[in-house]
Amino acid sequence: MTENRPVRVRFAPSPTGKLHIGGARTALFNWAFARRHGGVFILRIEDTDTERNSQESLDSILSAMRWLGLDWDEGPGVGGDFGPYAQSERMPLYDAAIQKGLTEGWLYRCFCTPERVNALKEEQRNRKENPRYDRACLGLPDAECAKRLEVGEPHVIRFAVPVSETAEIQDHIRGQVTVQSVEVEDWVVVRSNGMPTYNFCCVIDDAQMQISHVVRGEEHLANTPKQVLLYRALGLPQPDYAHVPLILGQDGKKLSKRTGDTALQDYRDKGYPAEAMLNFLGLLGFSIDDETTVFSADEMVAAFDLKRINKSGAIFDTDKLHWLCGDTIRRMTDTDLLERLRPWLNTAVCDKDGGWLLQLAACFRERLTLFGDVSEMSAHLFCECVEPDEKAAKALSADGVADTLSGVADLLAGVESWPPPEFFALVKGWAAEHELGVGKVMKPVRAALTGSLGGPELGDVLALLGKDCSLARLRQAR
Ligand code: GLU
Repeated sequence: MTENRPVRVRFAPSPTGKLHIGGARTALFNWAFARRHGGVFILRIEDTDTERNSQESLDSILSAMRWLGLDWDEGPGVGGDFGPYAQSERMPLYDAAIQKGLTEGWLYRCFCTPERVNALKEEQRNRKENPRYDRACLGLPDAECAKRLEVGEPHVIRFAVPVSETAEIQDHIRGQVTVQSVEVEDWVVVRSNGMPTYNFCCVIDDAQMQISHVVRGEEHLANTPKQVLLYRALGLPQPDYAHVPLILGQDGKKLSKRTGDTALQDYRDKGYPAEAMLNFLGLLGFSIDDETTVFSADEMVAAFDLKRINKSGAIFDTDKLHWLCGDTIRRMTDTDLLERLRPWLNTAVCDKDGGWLLQLAACFRERLTLFGDVSEMSAHLFCECVEPDEKAAKALSADGVADTLSGVADLLAGVESWPPPEFFALVKGWAAEHELGVGKVMKPVRAALTGSLGGPELGDVLALLGKDCSLARLRQAR
C-alpha cells in the first residue's frame, strides 16, 4: 500500500441529478479520510455527459455537501493547483494523453460499426462466451487508417489491453484483488462523437491530481482493472483503492426511491438535522468501534480508518435514522434548538419575543424527531383560533362539554399567577367537585386549547398561549 504518499482524495460526482445518499456517503468517507490524515479533499465535477448535465444539479450537489459540512480544499469555487476541476474544461489534457497513446500504440482507432460489434457480441453470448470486441482493427496499417480518417469514416478509439498481464488492486476494504488482463476487453476510450469516456478521464485526472487513494462505491470495482492497466500503459503509479459497500434498503435490495428518499437534499428540506444525517451516513458501512452509535463529525474523523469499513452491504435503517435525529435534538441547548427551528416556525405572523420562542423550543424538544415536525405541532400557537382535528372535534361535541369548559375557564380566571401553578391538581379537584372523571375534563380542555388530543404538557401550552388567549379558547370552543 502507498502509505507514504501525501493523502489526496477526491469525490467526483456527475451533475446529472441531486446528490444521492450513496454519493453523500462516499463524499463523507473521502472527507473523513482526508481530515484524519491532514490530507487534501478534492471535489471534481465529472461533466462529460453534456446531454444529462445541468447547472441546477451541480448547484444542488454543492449545497447538499455544504449542508452536511463537507468542505473541499480544491474544486469549484475554491480553486487549487491541479485545476480546472470540471472535466469539461480539461479536454486539452485528455487530448494530449490520447495522442501519446496513439503514438505509443496502446490506443488504436477502431472503424467497426456499432452494428458489427453488437452482432459479434450477440453471437458470443449465444455461444455462452463473454461478449468482447474481437480486435479486428488492432494493427490496421497506418496508411489505411489515415485514408479512412481522411474520408471522415466514423470511428472510436480503443485501449489495447496487454495480453497476459495481471491487474493488481490494493483495496483497503477487500484486500488485494487481482484480475487477469485477458478478462478485460479493448474498451472504448473515445466515443465516435469525440468525447473521451469515464474510465479514461478518471485515470488522467486522478493521476494529474496526484490522488493517493480512490475511495468510491463498490459498483465501480468492475472499472478498476481497466483503470489499473491504463496507469501501467501511461507509466504512472496507481493509487490505492477502497471500494465501499452498496447501500441496501430495508428489503435488502439496492436502495431506491420505492423505499424512501434517495436524495440528500430531500432530507434537508424535511428538517432532518445535518449532524444526525452525517452520523447516520457514517454508520452505513463504518463504525468507530463495536459499541458507539452516536458520534460527531470530529469524532468520526478522529477514528476514521478505511480498514473499519465493512465489505458487506449496509442497510439503510430509517428507524435508526429517526432515532439519531431525535437524539440530536434532545442534546441541543434551547438557544441552538431555537435557531434550527426558526425556519420551520410561523414567526412571520407573530410578534412573539425571544423568551417566548425559547420556551416553545424547550416545550417541543422531547417530541420532535425532525426540526420540520415543529411546523405542524406548533401551528395552534401561532393562529388566532384553533381548527380542531377530527378527534378533537369529537371530544368537543360530547354532552356537557361546553359547561365543563366554561367551568374550567372560570376556575382558571380566578388564578393570580400564570401559568397556573399546580394546574393538574387544580383541575382534578374541580372535576371531583363536579363528579366528573379527570380525563373527561382534560380531554376537551386540550382539544379546545390545541385543536388536537396530543401534544406537550398542558401547563406548557397554557404558558405559551397566555391567560387571555387560553381563557378565550376555552370559552369559544365548540
Ligand atoms: N462520476 C463517477 C460517479 O459519479 C465517479 C466514479 C469514481 O469515483 O471514480 O460514479
